[in-house]
Formats: sequence, C-alpha cells, structure tokens
Amino acid sequence: MRTGPTPSKRRASRSASSGERLSLVPAPLLDKLRAVVGGGHVLSGVELSPYVVDGRTPEAAVFPATVDEVAAVVSLAAEAGLPLVPWGGGTAAAVGVPPTRAGLVLGLSRLRAIVEHEPGDLTVTAQAGVILSELQAALSARGQWLSLDPPDADRATLGGVLAANASGPRRHLYGTARDLLIGVTVVTADGSVVRGGGRVVKNVAGYDLPKLFIGSYGTLGVIVEATLKLRPRPDDERLVAVRFERLKDAGTAVRAILASDLIPNAVDLVDAVAARAVGIDAAPAALLVGFDGLREQIDWQIAELGSVVRPYGGQAPTAVPAGVWTGLARAAQAAFETPAAVMTLSVLPSLVADTMEQGANSARQRGLGTAWCAHVGVGLVTGAVRAEGQRQDPAMLATVLAEWRAAARAGGGHASIRWAPLAVKTALPVWDDAGPAGRIMQRIKAEVDPQNILNPGRFAAGI
Ligand SMILES: Cc1cc2nc3c(=O)[nH]c(=O)nc-3n(C[C@H](O)[C@H](O)[C@H](O)COP(=O)(O)OP(=O)(O)OC[C@H]3O[C@@H](n4cnc5c(N)ncnc54)[C@H](O)[C@@H]3O)c2cc1C
Repeated sequence: MRTGPTPSKRRASRSASSGERLSLVPAPLLDKLRAVVGGGHVLSGVELSPYVVDGRTPEAAVFPATVDEVAAVVSLAAEAGLPLVPWGGGTAAAVGVPPTRAGLVLGLSRLRAIVEHEPGDLTVTAQAGVILSELQAALSARGQWLSLDPPDADRATLGGVLAANASGPRRHLYGTARDLLIGVTVVTADGSVVRGGGRVVKNVAGYDLPKLFIGSYGTLGVIVEATLKLRPRPDDERLVAVRFERLKDAGTAVRAILASDLIPNAVDLVDAVAARAVGIDAAPAALLVGFDGLREQIDWQIAELGSVVRPYGGQAPTAVPAGVWTGLARAAQAAFETPAAVMTLSVLPSLVADTMEQGANSARQRGLGTAWCAHVGVGLVTGAVRAEGQRQDPAMLATVLAEWRAAARAGGGHASIRWAPLAVKTALPVWDDAGPAGRIMQRIKAEVDPQNILNPGRFAAGI
C-alpha cells in the first residue's frame, strides 16, 4: 500500500500554498530514502501540501514501517545535515515556532502496532504511530483504558500525544503521560535506537530519561514505541453541569469542591461561548464536573456536589450527554470556525476564573470577542480570540496575547501561544520564558542533537 494523499507523478517546484521557492532534497538522497522505505512511501512536490505548516513546505516526507527503517532515515538525514520533523497525526503540527528550514517530514503512520497488552499487569506497549482512539478501542475490549483523553483522539497518535504531553479533562484525577509512562524507545538524532525504562515496571537507574521525551515536541528524539500503565475501565461515568450567574462564583465554588470529600475525575469551567460550542446552554458560566466508579457512588457524589455548590449560587447539577466529554479540551477554540488566536495559560486553580475575566476584558476593550474554557482543578486555561470577519491586525492580537501572558505571570504562572498566524508568532514569543532552566535545556539539546536537526528552533528557549 502506498503512503499519504493522492499520488502524483509531478515534482512541483513551487509550494501550492505560498508560491515560495522550494528547497529540494538532493536526488541521490531521495533515492537512498526510497531504498530504505520503498518508493511509494517517499512523498515530494505537490504531494507535500498536507504537510505545509505556517506556509513552509517540507522538502520531502518519508514514512518508514519499522524501527530500523526510522533509524536508517534519521541516519541519512543526519549525514546530510537535513532537519527532521517527526509527524504523528499532525493535529499539533502548527504548535510552536516554525522551523527555519522545513526539511524532511518523518511520518510515523506506518508504525501503528499494539506490540503487547498484558491485562494482568495493566500495561500496554504500542508503536508511536497508533491512533489514540484505536488504542483505546482495543484496550476497552479487554476492560481497560489508558487514562489520557487529549483532544482529537481520532487523529492524534500515541507518539504525538507523548511528544506534546497532551491531556484532557480527566487529567484532573488521572494526571498526564508523565504519570503513566513506564518505558520508551526512541531513535536519537544520530540514528541510534535507545530504550529507556522497562516493559512491566519502572526500571530506571539514574536519571529518569524516558520522561525527558514527554513534552519535548520532537526536539530530542523520535519516539517509536512506548510502554504505559493502564487502568480498569470504571463501571460507570457521568458528566454534570452546574450553572452560575457569575463566572467569579463558579471560581469560588471550585475551591469548595476541591476542599470537599468529592472525588471528581474532571472539573472544567466554561464561559457561555465555549459552553455553546459543546452544545450546552450555560450563560454566563458553568462548571462541568465528571465522576466515575460505581453507579451508587456517582449518585451520591452528584447529590453532594449540589450541596457543596449551592451556597455559591450554583444551580442543581444537570446531566450532560456523554458526547460532551470529547469536546471539552477544545471548547474555546471550537467556539469559532477559525479563531484568530488561541493561547493556553497555566495558573493556580484559585485564579482561573479571575484570569478568564481579565483576559476577556482586555480583548473586549479592543472590540474582540473571546471564548474560554479551563481544566480548572489543574489550572489549565485556554482562551480563543474570534476572527471578526476581516483579517485581524497582528499587532493588536499580539498586544492582547501579551496582556494574557502578563496576567498568567502575575499569578506565578505562564502562557504559550497554541495557535496564531505567523505574523503574531513573530511579534510575540510563542513559548513563555523558560528562565534559568532554559540554559540547562539548551545544553541537553546540544548534547543529544549536536547538529540541531530535530525540529530545530521550534520549542522553548530557542531549542
Ligand atoms: C488548536 C489546538 C488545541 C489544542 N488543545 C490542546 C489542549 O487543550 N490540551 C492538550 O493537551 N493538547 C492540546 N492540543 C495538542 C494536540 O491535541 C496534541 O498535541 C496531539 O495529541 C498531538 O498528536 P499528533 O499525533 O497529532 O502529533 P503531531 O501534531 O503530529 O506532533 C506534535 C508534536 O510532536 C512531535 N511528534 C509527533 N510524533 C512524534 C514522535 N513519534 N516522536 C517524537 N516527536 C513526535 C511533532 O514533531 C510535533 O512537534 C491542541 C492542539 C491544537 C492544534
């Protein structure tokens, strides 16, 4: 079977999207890549349009089928000094600073096997290119799940989710990939295959290197396989909405929920605009609270939730369709067909509601509409700016996002641009200042990728 989109024999010399002159992989290198992965799995020219990011077209896209093929491709790129962009589902391909040279897309879509599932040990080992929803379906058939629920699970790959440290509403109770990873196999920038950790239990002597690759955005190595801890699927799970007349009151109620005996698996706060995007009528604000476990325990918790929130103006909890879960992580950006910009802010849980109000005000003062959602219990806020019909002024957008970042910092937090046009990303750093830790990160990067070929320049601290 052939890789990628509709085949084409033409090697276009210009990018369909931008008209910019393309750099092309030298023909002898293309031939070597074809010899490794098979001719049908190397894309070039117009076939590359699905892989254009921020107007930059890669020089070729290569889709290896085995770990050895990944290692051979990385070795060839390293020899040629050609930048590599690891590519899973591509759902977060535009996150970060665009690379100075687009180089070679290294697609992981052919490495999609579930290598080993040990229900008795509650572990799974899978290749990086497996689609998260497919992995979950296979685990679910045996009564288990991987407790990660990032957005776009029907397109995102396991490797991409680990590389982006992606998470969703259930992070509130179950944490992130960092809490679940037992072992990982990566291909490093020189083409070596390195295994860290174990397959059954954590097996780390010395530094916990496998965790270094989580959230590294493909800048330290290509994840090819990972072993993760699983959980039994709960008997039942429910999501309820508690509506509030004021966003501020919802914020206060969150503190009471966190201090109570309740054990929710998700506590999300949405404003009216984001609520509409997930199909809920919740003006001006709602808390969406999830519970899992035994049916009677959930009944008790929902009743108790009603008592906890009532003194703060929370209405009685109402059931929300199960389909709402999957929309929660992207509720803010989904509120607008094409948002002008999306930013994620990390703040203390107690400051989430204030941060949302402050952010909405700073945009409103410039005539810009916004939508807000938050995994409030872990202080992760997403704000999206509406594109008001005409093209936004990049300077004005950058000013608004800078004010949002300042608000996050004022509470001891930080903020990153999740999506914005290139002109905005040029005016305002995408990643927040890494501080003194940035120097350590730069040294780690220089040590493991001395030629700087893995997603160069994309990440924090100029990495
Ligand atoms: C608008 C928007 C909103 C989002 N909101 C959230 C959110 O609220 N919470 C959240 O947690 N996530 C969020 N995400 C991120 C996104 O859901 C995840 O990052 C996604 O799971 C990535 O999976 P993917 O396979 O599509 O990765 P890709 O998009 O293909 O890659 C993501 C990054 O990982 C690298 N990469 C991919 N595969 C590998 C590999 N095998 N080895 C090494 N590096 C690799 C890529 O080079 C890239 O840097 C959002 C993304 C977008 C675009």
